[in-house]
Amino acid sequence: MKKIVLGSQNRGKLLEIVAILTNVPVQFISLAEFPEAPDVEETGATFQENAELKALTLARHLNEWVLADDSGLEVDALGGAPGVYSARFAGKHGDNTANNQKLLEELNGLDASARTARFRCVIALASPERVLLTVSGKVEGRIAFEPQGEGGFGYDPLFIYPPEGKTFGQLSAEFKNGVSHRAKALKELRPALAGLLL
Ligand code: IMP
Repeated sequence: MKKIVLGSQNRGKLLEIVAILTNVPVQFISLAEFPEAPDVEETGATFQENAELKALTLARHLNEWVLADDSGLEVDALGGAPGVYSARFAGKHGDNTANNQKLLEELNGLDASARTARFRCVIALASPERVLLTVSGKVEGRIAFEPQGEGGFGYDPLFIYPPEGKTFGQLSAEFKNGVSHRAKALKELRPALAGLLL
């Protein structure tokens, strides 16, 4: 059976990937089993460049197939920012509260119709030789006027999913994982991966 290393330290993401890819004849291995794996810096200008950079760099180091992803939020009124800087929008990597506060400040004075945004996710699979495939997904929404809901992570309390009129922070994990950018990319990954393994 083909082995694929999941090039992410985020346990939630790993569980989501494995849950969607059941029945694909692949043995998934966590990056945690490779303590020697380098920390790949996300220097790309796009989600796709970062996902490919992570997958290929790790695949070369580990001499295995590696699946890696990159994701983030694009706000139209900010010209697509925070984009690839989503995790460190306010300066410190992963400071969700500060990131959300900065986003609200930058959109201060804009009404609901001017607050359109989307989450994007790109997933890349690489062998030690080359990038084998990339898939992507997006979900459209709007930035709220204040955080609502305790669920999810990152920008979820500010991201209104219009069909429900609620933020991802207010919706259940099961619901979000059915409609999210990552879920859509993963649904594309399943047939792409199956085709590659034929
Ligand atoms: P990464 O793909 O782990 O590098 O995530 C980049 C950043 O994008 C995260 O730290 C979050 O700030 C944001 N982000 C990506 N996906 C989501 C999501 O599903 N909800 C909320 N924020 C997200």
